[in-house]
Amino acid sequence: MFSIIRPSDFPKSLTKSTKDYRAADVVEVLQEIFFSKCYLCERKGFPDVNIEHRDPHEGDLVKKYDWSNLFYACVRCNGIKSNIHKNILDCCQTLDVAQAIELHCPIVNNDGHKVIVKIGNLGSNHEIESTIKLLDLCFNDTNTALKGIGRHTLIQQIQRYQTKLLIIKDELLDDTLILTASEKNMRIDKLKVMCDPEFPFSAFWKWYITRDVDLSKIVGNVF
Ligand SMILES: [Zn+2]
Repeated sequence: MFSIIRPSDFPKSLTKSTKDYRAADVVEVLQEIFFSKCYLCERKGFPDVNIEHRDPHEGDLVKKYDWSNLFYACVRCNGIKSNIHKNILDCCQTLDVAQAIELHCPIVNNDGHKVIVKIGNLGSNHEIESTIKLLDLCFNDTNTALKGIGRHTLIQQIQRYQTKLLIIKDELLDDTLILTASEKNMRIDKLKVMCDPEFPFSAFWKWYITRDVDLSKIVGNVF
């Protein structure tokens, strides 16, 4: 998960008598502030965008058109969350959601090798526990054939970036490469770019760097 800043001015389509939370002005602002990323799995630039109600509206018109309740999500995560998962962390609030939940991607792409989703650096509370349960399904659910295919593709996408990180890590640790200070700094800067909220799956890279004994010494604190 990644933190975003939601502007307090809300789109006009939420104030008109004919309210529409899927209207262009709403979707465009959400796309911009969420960096075209799903607020749950952090994939970026997916074709089937859903406007997700963090607090399921279940017919409640206030919740349905509440600007602060609208989130940018992919079809897979929106379907998994449905109206079953409640009390999910709000990535627009001050809590550092990336730091609240630790994430690690497996090296192998196989249903038996799960993404690790666990309590991070900020202790536990009800919202963190609920969000861990949901994210565990978003990253690991293979209950149906379609969810299995969706999960395989998602892991492929995460692993592609993870491989890039591992190449940079190897270059930083390989003394035989004889890097200049600027060549070394360029690689450290690339790792920091991967930790920006707008970068795909940024929470994974923050946690990789934080937990890796060698990289954390070289890159420093990324939270
Ligand atoms: Zn998603």
